[in-house]
Parts: sequence; structure tokens; C-alpha cells
Amino acid sequence: MASELHLHLDGSMRIGTLVELARFGGISLPSYDAKELLSQIKFKQGMTQEECLAAFATTLSVMQTEYAISRIAYEICEDNWNRGINHVEIRYCPFLHQGKGLGIEAIVGAVQRGISLAEKNCGIRACQIFGALRHDTAERSEELAGIASYYHKEKPDYKVAGFDLCCAEANNPPWKHDKAFMIAQEAGLKITVHAGEVPGSLDYLRYAICAMKADRIGHGTLLIEDERLIQTAKRLGTTIECCVTSNVHTGIIKDLTEHPAKRLFDAGVRIAFCADNSLLSQTTMERELRIAMHVLGFTKEDLEKCLKYSDEARFLK
Ligand SMILES: [Zn+2]
Repeated sequence: MASELHLHLDGSMRIGTLVELARFGGISLPSYDAKELLSQIKFKQGMTQEECLAAFATTLSVMQTEYAISRIAYEICEDNWNRGINHVEIRYCPFLHQGKGLGIEAIVGAVQRGISLAEKNCGIRACQIFGALRHDTAERSEELAGIASYYHKEKPDYKVAGFDLCCAEANNPPWKHDKAFMIAQEAGLKITVHAGEVPGSLDYLRYAICAMKADRIGHGTLLIEDERLIQTAKRLGTTIECCVTSNVHTGIIKDLTEHPAKRLFDAGVRIAFCADNSLLSQTTMERELRIAMHVLGFTKEDLEKCLKYSDEARFLK
């Protein structure tokens, strides 16, 4: 059994569900043929940021009703349970689901109903992580941090356990969102930050680890470039949510064999393998572990240690 720590709600649905929800809701898609649609929206090495955003625009287009959100949350849990995962942490930005007027309560409640039903039916455990959008204003992310804090403290059944910073990293420094993260941390939420995912973002990664004291870092691929920061991450016990396939798609590494996960692991950094976007990156945690073993040189014992790191870094204990 294993814990999946880094999975986006809007990037991990079943392709068949995407088509069905679009047909049912009268929503326009580039194609209604699942195979053809997948070939158009799935991430590819060398894709542009526009293509990446267009893929999320497609998935989000069907995620504007409580039924759709709840069903997708449920199915993500069920799919992961069927892959041998017993704990999943699902991240999303509630603001992205208000295109047809849904209120925050309806959105957060829909995710909760989906994961609760999966917990009941499958036995999996799941929680929610809110993701602030790094291109948003500071005020907007502070508002989201306030909402996350409310659910974390006042509505524990909703299992809002963490706060994240996500979306395009280039030229969007994390320090713009300092106050939001202070609000979240003061409320007792755990912190993860997408950082060190694009060229030139080492300063952002340094800030996320040293100043924001993130419990976990999404990607953190550039950590390998700073020996002192590696030592700091080790001392603080920062867990790196490592998404190898996703890193090839976004271009921070050119080839799987170049990925620094094994060098970081050997240096003593806590590495947890994750899928990031099961649909759009066409991967699973199990597949990422296979890549780690067959391409990156992790041994079976190494991977057992990584699975232990994942378990220990859960936001929902
Ligand atoms: Zn991510």
C-alpha cells in the first residue's frame, strides 16, 4: 500500500468521464472520440505553455457542476485504490470551478462527498489541498487561504489539510503570496509549494524551502543545483514530491535518464514519487516507481524507503 501526495483534480480524471460529462452537459470539446481527444490534450515533450493551459481549459470546462466535481473526485480515489494506493491527497483551486456560478461551499462540499463515498466504498483515505494560483493577486490567494483555514479549523469533516502554490512558475515568485501562506500556516494547514520546476526558478525553490518552510515541495527538480540547499532540505526534513514524467513534459529535463531524483535520494533527500496529472501526463504513481527502478537506478530497497517517506509526509495523518 502507498500514499499518493501530488495529484491535481483537474488533470487526473478518466478520459471517458470527460467525454461523458461534456456530452451530457452540452459542452464543446475538440473531439468527442476518447482516443482522439486524449491525443489532443495529453502532455507531450516540448509542448508550449499555451498547449498545457488549453488542456486544463478543456478538463475544467466540464468541472463546473457539483455532480461533475464530486464524480471526478470519487473516480480519482477509486482508480488509485485499484492501483494499490490507500491514501490520496487531491489538490485543486476552488476558484477555477466557479465558471457557472457555483459557490465555494458547493465546490468544497462536492469534493468532500466524492472522497467520502470512496472512503466508504473502497477503504481508501483521502484529503483536500487547496492550491493558490501563483499568477493571481496576493489578495486573491489570501482570500483562498482564509477559506482553507475556515474549513480546516471549523469543518474537519471536509478534510482540507493543506495549502499549495501552483500554476506557471516563471516570473511568478512565491514571495508575492507570503501573507496567504502565513494565514494558512497559522491555521495549522500543512504547506506544499510547486517550486524549482522551470529553468531559472532556483531562487523560488530556495525561498519555498528556507523562508516559507514548506513541508513538501512539488517537483523541486532544480534542488540538485544547490548543495547547500540540499543540506537545508535534509535538515528541515522537506519532502520532494517527485513527478518524473511531468518534468519531461514541461521540459526541465530533456530525457528521463537526466532526472536528478536518484542523486538527491543518495544525498539523503526525502523523495516521494507522484503522478501529478494522471490523465494529462498519462501516468500513475506505479508507473513513476517503475521508471525510478528501470531508468533512474533505484533499487527495490530504495523505493521502499521512498514509499515510507511518502507515508510520513502525509498531510492527513
Ligand atoms: Zn503539480
